[in-house]
Amino acid sequence: MDVKKRSSDPATQEMLRRMAKAGHETAWDRLEAQEPQCGFGQLGVCCRVCNMGPCRIDPFGEGPQRGVCGADVDTIIARNFLRAVASGTSAHSDHGRGVAHAFLAMARGEAPDYGIKDPVKLHVLAKELGIKTDGRTDKDIAQELGELALAEFGKPHGFQRMAERAPAPRKALWKKFDIMPRAVDREVVEALHRTHMGVDQDYKNILRHASRCALGDGWGGSMLATELQDVMFGTPVPARGEINLGVLVKDAVNLIVHGHEPLLSEMVAAAATLP
Ligand code: SF4
Repeated sequence: MDVKKRSSDPATQEMLRRMAKAGHETAWDRLEAQEPQCGFGQLGVCCRVCNMGPCRIDPFGEGPQRGVCGADVDTIIARNFLRAVASGTSAHSDHGRGVAHAFLAMARGEAPDYGIKDPVKLHVLAKELGIKTDGRTDKDIAQELGELALAEFGKPHGFQRMAERAPAPRKALWKKFDIMPRAVDREVVEALHRTHMGVDQDYKNILRHASRCALGDGWGGSMLATELQDVMFGTPVPARGEINLGVLVKDAVNLIVHGHEPLLSEMVAAAATLP
């Protein structure tokens, strides 16, 4: 094993050597075991959308050029791509939904360990979304904001509120191409529906929905989550910190919280400072 081929980071290289010595498997080992990876899968020309398949298109043009349902290579690749976008949108935006749930619970007093660290942002955001702030407590405003945010994920009508923030020429473009994002749930369900056997065969339509679905994530789930997190945990500012494996402390309990979901890590950090 050449650790330099696996990572350019010296700390990671050292860890890889230690893991190999201890007989622990890594993602690189599993990747090696998979090689050569499936060429049809890598090209995206294999379809398992329905039980008449799996079907695959011969990329060299000598074998089948259509699946059992008649889907050609463009349709199959576009379907696979849109399903990947829908999956990513779901994973990303459900983080946003989780944040909205926590935010609402905090505002209702059901999650007392969370609070409002950036009240200025709370008021700015509330006003932007048409929520009255005069004469109201922060928790009261936050409750209405939390309910509005949570409803955004599955509302049956209209477009994403956050998408209104985009510059006017960008919004005009989205409207022209009919990709203004609606609720995340709506876009993901439509993605799975549209890519099912016998529904949309036109790769251009399918890819257009991929854009709409992705915008629903970026301007909906993702942006809304960021805003609510800023209110709850404080708007981030540049700070110096320590990174990489060297932060691990010998002879101590080291908790590594994976990912960028702060709901748990904030509480771990709070618990770690308890007397
Ligand atoms: S949707 Fe069409 S191409 Fe895909 S598995 Fe079914 S029959 Fe085959």
